[in-house]
Amino acid sequence: MQTARKKMKRGYAPKPVRRRDWLPDAPEAWDEWDEMDIATQERVMPLDERERRRTLEQALFAQPGTDPVAAAAALANSGQPDESPLAAMDTAGTVLEISNGLAQVELGERVVRCTIRGALNGQRSLYTNPVTVGDQVVVYVDSTGDDEQGVIQEVLPRRTVLARPDVHASHLQQALVANADQLLIVASWREPALWPELLDRYLVAAERFRLAPVICVNKIDLAEDVAECHGLLSPYRILRYPVVLTSAVSGAGLDALGMLMESRTTVLSGLSGVGKSTLLTAIYPSLDLRTGETSERKHEGKHTTTQATFLRVDPRTAVVDTPGIRSLGLAGLRPEELAAYFPEIGDLALGCRFSDCSHRHEPGCAVQSALETGLIAPSRYHSYAKIYEEISS
Ligand code: GDP
Ligand code: ZN
Repeated sequence: MQTARKKMKRGYAPKPVRRRDWLPDAPEAWDEWDEMDIATQERVMPLDERERRRTLEQALFAQPGTDPVAAAAALANSGQPDESPLAAMDTAGTVLEISNGLAQVELGERVVRCTIRGALNGQRSLYTNPVTVGDQVVVYVDSTGDDEQGVIQEVLPRRTVLARPDVHASHLQQALVANADQLLIVASWREPALWPELLDRYLVAAERFRLAPVICVNKIDLAEDVAECHGLLSPYRILRYPVVLTSAVSGAGLDALGMLMESRTTVLSGLSGVGKSTLLTAIYPSLDLRTGETSERKHEGKHTTTQATFLRVDPRTAVVDTPGIRSLGLAGLRPEELAAYFPEIGDLALGCRFSDCSHRHEPGCAVQSALETGLIAPSRYHSYAKIYEEISS
């Protein structure tokens, strides 16, 4: 964690020099702070609570090119320098972990333990849990006691949500990860052997939750013939999904994978044993990744745990580890929606004779003909048909 923080500092790009002669002795912290005009306004003329919140939301979500994580961190830092250290205050940050109703929230460079304001539980929502890992939250911090404590007051609008049906109320969803950008699907070539159908299932989940998928096939050092791997993965390349072959043993592909993860929030997925922890540790040696077995044991019996941890790499890059999540994303999916999540099938479906064609045995099916002429990969079609049957029954 310590190293990660240092890295984080180094990760900051040099700031453009700005006029700030209205500040007497500008401490270092102003550097981030005066990047944002709205923060300047807030400094000179304190705004009332509602207006301040609106400004905060605008800063986080409306300004094109503003990275919400960095903006939140800048705002979280901005309140501090001339506040009394004993004062209570509101700041914005990222939820790193939730366990038994307590959230660890990253506020600038520190992590504060927070409870969740009761009123948030009463809000009408599709989700049973009002706050989840990755959420941008407004926190009221009380530093008057020995321990700094906070209360999450508000959850800012989410860009994306990865969810699953709630165990207790299956018509509702449990939000697992908020604001992630992409889903890293890790598989291994051998031990365990690559299973294209599982890859396709993860891809459906990614498409469904609007997370950009990245496919990583690890343990490529165990392949006798790398051309065979390329052949098997070519349907995905044709679909323009990023595909990277890696080996944590030889180091192959690690730079490429690192580049795909840079400046994004990536959710990790894949079977246990494919090498997720090994890969991530090789790319980010300072990350505190828990390996599958221990963390699953740790989570046993804690039914309120979200089973996800937000790991900060640098101000723009993060990895969300979800060790407890084995199956992803197909619950509640209707059969007629499935084709839309197989881009090549969804496109061809427009040419089918029947608008409600399931692409399995109907006459005049454009997908079936494409399969016969080799336009669609048999393995992809096979996954489609298997999932279709499963969700129809
Ligand atoms: P996880 O459950 O997905 O996090 O998998 P781990 O990172 O715990 O790795 C499972 C096993 O695979 C460990 O014994 C690793 O040493 C091994 N492993 C990880 N990456 C590679 C690789 O690229 N090649 C080979 N041959 N073994 C690997
Ligand atoms: Zn059809």
